[in-house]
Amino acid sequence: MLTVKLPGEKEILFEEEETPQPTDDQILIEVKSSGLCGSDLKPYAMDKKERGEFADSKGRLNISGHEPCGVVAEVGKNIEGIKVGERIIVHHYSGCRKCKHCVAGWPQLCLNGENKTYGFSTDGGNSDYMIVLPEMCIPMPEEITFAEGAAIACGTGTAFQALKRLNVNGLDVLAVFGQGPVGLSATLLGAEMGATVIGIDVDEKRLELAKKHGATHTINPNKIDPVEAIKDLTHGEGADAGFEATAIGPVRRQMVQSTKIWGRACLVGEGGTVTFEPSPDIIHRHLNLMGSWTFSTHVLSELSQWVVDRKIPLNSIITDKYKLSEAEDAFTKFASGGTGKVVFEW
Ligand SMILES: [Zn+2]
Ligand SMILES: [Zn+2]
Repeated sequence: MLTVKLPGEKEILFEEEETPQPTDDQILIEVKSSGLCGSDLKPYAMDKKERGEFADSKGRLNISGHEPCGVVAEVGKNIEGIKVGERIIVHHYSGCRKCKHCVAGWPQLCLNGENKTYGFSTDGGNSDYMIVLPEMCIPMPEEITFAEGAAIACGTGTAFQALKRLNVNGLDVLAVFGQGPVGLSATLLGAEMGATVIGIDVDEKRLELAKKHGATHTINPNKIDPVEAIKDLTHGEGADAGFEATAIGPVRRQMVQSTKIWGRACLVGEGGTVTFEPSPDIIHRHLNLMGSWTFSTHVLSELSQWVVDRKIPLNSIITDKYKLSEAEDAFTKFASGGTGKVVFEW
């Protein structure tokens, strides 16, 4: 089978490997779509020497891709309730299967330190086939396309969970900083939840996508101070809820500063740092500042059903589709910005 690995410095390594055989307790998935994510850009661009430290003793790197979905191809004989041919969104984590977070569908929070992230710490979905565990298989409604399933499998799922953390509703003005795949999903889903959405990004193409997907206002911080602009749009008060998907320190601070007194603010972008002045930025404004990290298995189920029931046009955030053999073009396009969701499709 064809696999895609990321050895660093923007090189794409295509390797033919033998299709893995599932053990009695594993499932083999035939991958049908796999998404590209902002978090893939770090290993993609990393220094090769530094990246080499992630290889095993034989120099093998794990297969990339943590947003896969597909069809069950083979089921280990100890597994019940999952059949060959079922359409599956992959929850890309596993854990000890015993601690309270693993049992609750949050293996990324495993208390026994056994969290594996597929596509990073073990093999992911940028390959024709992929081995998973039964609890990672989320049934995918017939009405959802594989590309939409790939979006839900990470970026859109992450946005949904953070909006739930923020308790976004129809009374809110929601400011979404960063209109990449996660932020654009937050714009679309936040508008579906009833909020008035303000989309913020320095990329005009991404602002156009935001407008097309439910943002009633857009702000380009290269042209205007976003904190002042959001206050101007909210009678001087600020947004009820702030959502940040950029991982850029000064943007995080702007997100917090543009949220109103008693408001809610959520950090979603991974990595980086931030500096706040606790008194004026947070304490004196009774701000509820929170973080949100991806989603549970149950939230993936809830989101995929909601997308169907509410007829949310998720397909339209997917701007670019590539074959796996076109991975070089896919990563170059995604890394250049200006896209919505970018996926591989088989
Ligand atoms: Zn992701
Ligand atoms: Zn655990």
